[in-house]
Amino acid sequence: MTVWVLGDQLNLEATPLQHEDHVLMIEAHEFGERLPYHPQKLVLVFSAMRHFRDELRERGYEVTYICAEMFSEGLDRFYDATPGTNLVMMDPPSHGAGERFRYLVESRGGSLTLVENDLFLTTPAEFDAWAGDASSYRQEHWYRHVRRETGILMDGDDPVGGEWNYDDQNRETPPDGWSPPEAPRFVPDEVTMEVIEFVRERYPEAWGSLYEFVWPVTRKEARQALDHFVENRLAEFGPYQDAMVRGEWALCHSLLSAAINLGLLTPHEVVTTVETAYRDGDVPLNSVEGFVRQVVGWREFMRHVYRRSMPELTTANQLDQTESLPAGYWTGDTEMNCLSETVGHVYGHGYAHHIERLMVLSNFALVYGVNPQELTRWFHLGFVDAYHWVTTPNVVGMGSFATDVLSSKPYASSGNYVNKMSDYCASCPYAVSETVGENSCPFNALYWDFLKRHEETLRGTGRMGLMYAHVDSKDDDEWEAISERAAKIRQMGRDGTL
Ligand code: SF4
Repeated sequence: MTVWVLGDQLNLEATPLQHEDHVLMIEAHEFGERLPYHPQKLVLVFSAMRHFRDELRERGYEVTYICAEMFSEGLDRFYDATPGTNLVMMDPPSHGAGERFRYLVESRGGSLTLVENDLFLTTPAEFDAWAGDASSYRQEHWYRHVRRETGILMDGDDPVGGEWNYDDQNRETPPDGWSPPEAPRFVPDEVTMEVIEFVRERYPEAWGSLYEFVWPVTRKEARQALDHFVENRLAEFGPYQDAMVRGEWALCHSLLSAAINLGLLTPHEVVTTVETAYRDGDVPLNSVEGFVRQVVGWREFMRHVYRRSMPELTTANQLDQTESLPAGYWTGDTEMNCLSETVGHVYGHGYAHHIERLMVLSNFALVYGVNPQELTRWFHLGFVDAYHWVTTPNVVGMGSFATDVLSSKPYASSGNYVNKMSDYCASCPYAVSETVGENSCPFNALYWDFLKRHEETLRGTGRMGLMYAHVDSKDDDEWEAISERAAKIRQMGRDGTL
């Protein structure tokens, strides 16, 4: 049996690698042209695969590494050389991928056995047993269930510290003059430099900058990144996890999601390391719990909700939103400080943190009226940690409220939220305190217009009562001005003059 290792399964501890010593890896290049993927994402995946190949060989595995246009071509070459080979692979999380690979293998005379994917903390069977026949899910319930089942951050039957979450301590903004500890940078080695040159030449349409590539591409570097985070950034991660600061793309965020999604780190070891730091007295509980929630709660939850909600999730659009993305998402050229800053982070690094993703990039697209599939495509191509299984539920479900399977209300807000959690508004040409008028913050009119346009769907939705009390307090003249301003902003978005 030969282990077929995909580009997001780069883990030496993976179960199939404990039983077999022949490995197949296929670096499929045409895939990278299906979207104008961020060049750092392409470099990250190809470089990490090549480093993993070398590490496997150093450890005595016999690795067949094929660079091909497509998986089908790679398999043709593999089966020409080794007819009838039986393959084993960890079941990939993207919908239907395992069965598609099985078909490709069987049509070339081999077989493919799909086994449990070790790179998640929980299994499909565990989630299915917990969820039963439900078709909508709440992350908080799942998160508590996993902590109880695994004992993570638990003291017996109770959560450590007596509370399940410490969000009330995790919504601070840093004081003036504060700057975060520097994020680790991993200097590209010869292998990565070769991949960078390849990506530059092969993918001229790629969207994003390759000027500064600092991501870990090996197991060793990923482990250094985890240790660096725990020692230098975790303590302040908690209180400032929702904050946004001009000129700071990383703040105290772990920047580990790409390494975890590639398999260079497992969610189990990440959570264990963080919990150990807490138990050793090195970091505060609110920071540790906030981080554990992202991994144990959100990451696992999204994987399972996606699995159970596909394929309908990809096309969901319960609000019938049809606008194209404003030009500023592609150019970063906009007077809106919040948008230009966050798009700049994505363009420059293939990354923006969770609040920038949810409350700036998704929130603005939501109130503007962007089609959820178009927004998902943009996230999918632009982020180094984006894969279909994670981007789709996050953007379609949470960011766009295109379905209510994982959220009971939309994450929509006016400019007030951005003003509260960032220093963007103070120097923005738009006035966050104004709803209509030429210089009014675009978020504001769009937000009220959004509530009005989708009143039929949203008014009865849980937790929207207060918002609709404000809607009801506005008179016809106010609504006319809001509607005009919202239409003007949409036109500016289309024209690239926002
Ligand atoms: Fe963004 Fe509005 Fe604040 Fe400007 S005023 S930074 S557009 S929220």
